[in-house]
Amino acid sequence: MNRTVLVLGGTAEARELAAALDAQPSTRVISTLAGRVARPRLPAGDVRIGGFGGAEGLAAYLSREAVDAVVDATHPFAERMSASAAAACSRAGVPLLRLERPPFRSEPGDDWRRVASLEEAAATIPGSGRRVFLTTGRQGLGAFAGVGGAFFLIRCVDPPDVPLPADHVLRLDRGPFTLEGELALIDEHRLDLLITKDSGGEHTAAKLEAARLRGLAVIVVSRPPRADPLAVASVAEALAWLREAAHAG
Ligand code: NAP
Repeated sequence: MNRTVLVLGGTAEARELAAALDAQPSTRVISTLAGRVARPRLPAGDVRIGGFGGAEGLAAYLSREAVDAVVDATHPFAERMSASAAAACSRAGVPLLRLERPPFRSEPGDDWRRVASLEEAAATIPGSGRRVFLTTGRQGLGAFAGVGGAFFLIRCVDPPDVPLPADHVLRLDRGPFTLEGELALIDEHRLDLLITKDSGGEHTAAKLEAARLRGLAVIVVSRPPRADPLAVASVAEALAWLREAAHAG
């Protein structure tokens, strides 16, 4: 072992990267998870679960574990972790790369509306649809609690701990989701509106293809703005950056 890479995780890309790094005999990979999911899919290599206590805690961790490079592969909506990683790496002088999957893209004929927040998504429902496929994840579901006059099929990994809209069915599932499965849900619940975060990538794109085929309106919550000095969109690019960083170091 001659170098340690810290992967800030919670995404499929983070797990793919950890698996590739774990296969390198010269690399120790530590993946970190927030601990939000009751039974997370664990990445290969070492795993640390729980927050660091802000940028200061993470900076201390980086020096304690003699981390040589950090890849922030957290979800595009995990704003606080990314901000904390940027501050900690700059303080500790550790190179940082952002790995972020490309956003979802609409196709000609799609009926997509982009909004800036979950609250705006909730406010946009009247007039957009009456039978909603809500796939924005467990966090922030409270924004939809007061929306009346619509049915919600709510899909998330763990049970929500906030009030939910009066007329709903809760479906606990973490995928992977197939096009056939998504079409079946749309048909079974007669859904006419999909609400999703702009999580991007291929892993959850089947719902968008299903919405396209069935003519659903789609509300897409845009990603929060960010300012990453160094960012790549694929695991292969992250591995190439780490190879170069190793040679430079
Ligand atoms: P967040 O708001 O940016 O993070 C809140 C706090 O949780 C951070 O300040 C940090 O605590 C801790 N934390 C977050 N990600 C961590 C990680 N990978 N390792 C260690 N600590 C972490 O993040 P979030 O939106 O709650 O997301 C939490 C996790 O779920 C992330 O790993 C993210 O990749 C994953 N995820 C999020 C979404 C989403 O829609 N937000 C969707 C899918 C997966 P300290 O300040 O104490 O260090």
